[in-house]
Amino acid sequence: MRVQIKTMFGLIIKNINSRKAILIKCLNCAAEEFDKNSALQHVEKCDFYDCPLFDFRKERGYQDPQIRSKAIIEYCSLCGKVDGFMVGQCPHRTCSLFAYRLGKMDKSVEIPRLVKKYKCSLSKTRIGSSSPHSTK
Ligand code: SF4
Ligand code: SF4
Repeated sequence: MRVQIKTMFGLIIKNINSRKAILIKCLNCAAEEFDKNSALQHVEKCDFYDCPLFDFRKERGYQDPQIRSKAIIEYCSLCGKVDGFMVGQCPHRTCSLFAYRLGKMDKSVEIPRLVKKYKCSLSKTRIGSSSPHSTK
């Protein structure tokens, strides 16, 4: 899903899935504690075994999608408790986990592909060869 998310380098628009969403969350977490350039190494070496995202922080390798989804729900539930809000009403729409926080995809943050649609309408014009200068 294409969303705007907060990364350690600022806001970007990116295609993500729940694996990537966790990695980005972990990179932000490591960058806050250490520095941006070594964030990936710190994520790999993370020793917060109790963190719900721990087993899913590396993005690669086999992951059970249901357990991963539960891990995100658990992480968000802890985050909501610490920050004092209900996860369903999370105000941080640019958090990489936002779309996955409830265990089902929240598409309210999806950014539509406007460029693709534009290209499509261009090609339809060509196929129909309905040029504004046509005499048909
Ligand atoms: S697993 Fe948890 S503690 Fe470790 S980097 Fe990810 S979010 Fe931070
Ligand atoms: S989506 Fe909201 S509740 Fe979940 S980690 Fe991000 S800020 Fe916290």
